[in-house]
Amino acid sequence: MIHCFPRRRPCLKLSHHLPSPRKTHTHAPAPEQELLCIFGTGDLGRSLGQRLLQSGYRVVYGSRRPHSCGPLPLGAQATSHEAAAQSAGVVFICIHRGHYDFLETLAPQLEGKVLVDVSNNLKKNIYPEANAEYLQRLIPGAHVVKAFNTLSAWGLQNGPSDANRQVFLCGNSAEAKQAVAEMSTKLGLTVLDKGSLSAARELEDFPLQLFPEWRLPLRVAVGLTAFFFFYLLIRDIIYAYVVQGKDVSFRIMVSLANKVFPIVSLIMLCLCYLPGVIAAFLQLYRGTKYRRFPDWLDRWMLCRKQLGLIALGFAFLHVLYTLVIPIRYYVRFRIAEHTISQIKENTTSVFDTTTAWRADSYYSMGILGFGLFILLGITSLPSVTNALSWREFSFIQSKLGYLTVFFCTFHTYLYGWSRFLNPSSYKWYTPQAYLLSLVVPSLLIVLKLLLLLPCVDRSLIRIRQGWERNDPEDSSAKALLP
Ligand code: NAP
Repeated sequence: MIHCFPRRRPCLKLSHHLPSPRKTHTHAPAPEQELLCIFGTGDLGRSLGQRLLQSGYRVVYGSRRPHSCGPLPLGAQATSHEAAAQSAGVVFICIHRGHYDFLETLAPQLEGKVLVDVSNNLKKNIYPEANAEYLQRLIPGAHVVKAFNTLSAWGLQNGPSDANRQVFLCGNSAEAKQAVAEMSTKLGLTVLDKGSLSAARELEDFPLQLFPEWRLPLRVAVGLTAFFFFYLLIRDIIYAYVVQGKDVSFRIMVSLANKVFPIVSLIMLCLCYLPGVIAAFLQLYRGTKYRRFPDWLDRWMLCRKQLGLIALGFAFLHVLYTLVIPIRYYVRFRIAEHTISQIKENTTSVFDTTTAWRADSYYSMGILGFGLFILLGITSLPSVTNALSWREFSFIQSKLGYLTVFFCTFHTYLYGWSRFLNPSSYKWYTPQAYLLSLVVPSLLIVLKLLLLLPCVDRSLIRIRQGWERNDPEDSSAKALLP
């Protein structure tokens, strides 16, 4: 049973030294402002106190040094932990977990109170149990709620206009959570209930996360970039130096970079769509959608958005590097040299319609692919995603996504054209990098085309609507393909 809750009148009389409610000019008695207690006058304690005061609460601090604890928010008072705990129904524990032990001695004063645990740790798993669970164990008679730990003192001071306004909370008492939730709403924060106190460790680990869903895509991007950079370095620069005795190392900065970026972009774009295709084949093979995917596939599927956004970043770099080609010294020199040699030899090049078609198609595919790629990126922004229905979102991300893959792959095929037939392009017996970059996209397109075959598509739709092939071993008795 909880003795005191916000919104109700506090069950204990306020200490006489606490400030009295502000006087109003009306004759009706002013509603009594609720008194909240904060243990700890540090950074978070002070910021939280200031926000609570601004939101119409009264605040009393419990401190080891109530008379010398430094400047407090205007209107707040400091007193001993015992007196402060007795005066309010809700106590915010703004103290590091390492100092919680002394709270055990306050168990009688904290009996039945709502204790809000705001603490975080410097590392994961340094304690056997979550801080909030430890607090609950120290004071079993209190109602511990884990909350506010994902906010920063700075963010709290800056008010609800700050982007970080989400409060996650958990606790075993529904009433206590309700009280903290109402208080949070009054502070202009939005609340998400994460369940019982057993979720406390998850909440305590939140602030320690550092872009967890970006790690794998970034590693893939770095790995692919490094591989193709060295591959091209050997083929384009070192080969020219060793075999032809030419120093073309200046090509590293633009030419080489402008080969690496589109290759990485194309492969990563396809890596966004490949897990979906693999998952579809797995469902067809298993004849059910109710079996879990392997962990590696789950992890891969979860980072598709990040893979796509990184791929878009590389595509942007490719576009920028392509735009500077006409102003490059090397390119201007080569054009001038060619023109002058033609003038000297009094010759002209013959216009080749096939080359014109190829070049224009190559640029056009690239522009269309990039345009659609940007659309995919924009629709993955949460604000845009939220404005779309599921059907609209999946139309753009899936149908237009595959169209993007097709345009970009075709763009690369047009770039290579018939070069792969030329034996001199296999320097040191290695294929050109663009050929390597086409492996994943070509595989993806072939697999997707297989899935689009009407008989396969029908089976997949049935499976995704809940149909199951009962005996996966007995493929003859119940054929998957109708
Ligand atoms: P802080 O600035 O170091 O303040 C901690 C307060 O705890 C001190 O001011 C002190 O208050 C009290 N204290 C220190 N040693 C104590 C002891 N041995 N026994 C009893 N009380 C003691 O820390 P903080 O940044 O405010 O963080 C407080 C809690 O909030 C931590 O658990 C932290 O993980 C969590 N948190 C902080 C932030 C943030 O942005 N700072 C954000 C989220 C969560 P008195 O001198 O008045 O007793």
